[in-house]
Amino acid sequence: MASFDPEIATATYMASLTAAQHAKASAYTHGGEWLLLWGWLVGVAVAWLIARTGVLVRVRDRVRRPNLAVIACVTTFVLLAWAIGLPWSIYADWWRERGYGLTTQPFMGWLGENALSCVIGAILEALLALAIYALMRRTPRWWWAWSGGVAVVGIVIAIVISPVMIEPLFNTYTPAPAGPTRDAIVALAHRAGVPSDKILIYNGSKQSQRYTANVSGLFGTARVAMSDTMFQQGADLSEVRAVVGHEMGHYRRGHVFFSALVLGLLAIVMFFIADRAFPMVRHWMGVEGVKAIADPAGLPVLMVIAGTLGLLATPIVNTLSRFEESDADRFSLEYAQEPDGLAKALVKTIEYRASSPAPVEEMIFYDHPSVERRVHRAMVWKAEHRGHVGG
Ligand SMILES: [Zn+2]
Repeated sequence: MASFDPEIATATYMASLTAAQHAKASAYTHGGEWLLLWGWLVGVAVAWLIARTGVLVRVRDRVRRPNLAVIACVTTFVLLAWAIGLPWSIYADWWRERGYGLTTQPFMGWLGENALSCVIGAILEALLALAIYALMRRTPRWWWAWSGGVAVVGIVIAIVISPVMIEPLFNTYTPAPAGPTRDAIVALAHRAGVPSDKILIYNGSKQSQRYTANVSGLFGTARVAMSDTMFQQGADLSEVRAVVGHEMGHYRRGHVFFSALVLGLLAIVMFFIADRAFPMVRHWMGVEGVKAIADPAGLPVLMVIAGTLGLLATPIVNTLSRFEESDADRFSLEYAQEPDGLAKALVKTIEYRASSPAPVEEMIFYDHPSVERRVHRAMVWKAEHRGHVGG
């Protein structure tokens, strides 16, 4: 048997893209890292502006009943923040993506979907806020702990309803058509212990050229969905098996539950800090007419705290995600046994995720391990299993 060197194989995969392609991916990725900071600044500025107009205080005074006041304040804030922040969203989410050739969506199509997301967000946030503000009123000392539980329940409900109530509003999902691709996926599903009737293809190219697949839903709504970009960019069977094996890994290893648990704990910490920091931040922002944290007119203050803590938590959330992504890769290698399929598919994601970041950059900003690291692991797996899986 000829010798197989994982280092050389990894380098060969990295070299399958030109230097210009790597440079463009780096520019896109680094720019995206700065966008986190600018996005936070925009969010703080927007919340501050809304707070200074006093509009939420007037809304609260007009609506007497506490629950209705919460709904009125949340929807007013979300819609205003959407409108004021729109130029930024247009730049960051559409114009920039278009500049890098990552979307071909016309502006009006993008705007319509962005507005729809805002409406859905307003509804979900109003429901979450109803529960949290009710807890603030009833247990002012312990609301932050109970709210962590509310956050977990909210995350789980959102995941369960997403494939049936939200995702179809944006894309068309169809069962994978009969043929060798579907046969291979069904066989893999049986092997991996995943229901095989929910393997879908969606028209992801409508919004984004990103080569991607995902698993979403939970309990009865769970399914694996592959973007049509995978097929437009010429995925062969080994890639499809590797990618679907990875997504099945997320499902079979219960990553959703683990994430919900960790994010719930993080939410408790964040709510606790918000509880203690509220008076100080309200003072800094110069907000008048807001008595306490349980007053929905103080929502902009809470949003500044949440946005800031969210930014600071980026490395924690990303590290959780990278851990699950590595686990899903291991699952894929074990069940699909397509190290080269995985490597080929990963190389296609380099255009929106630069392949070889510095370790600190990877730790802070990367929600997936770097492509170079993932390809290397696949090649090491290949070296260890050569002969068992045919070459
Ligand atoms: Zn994944």
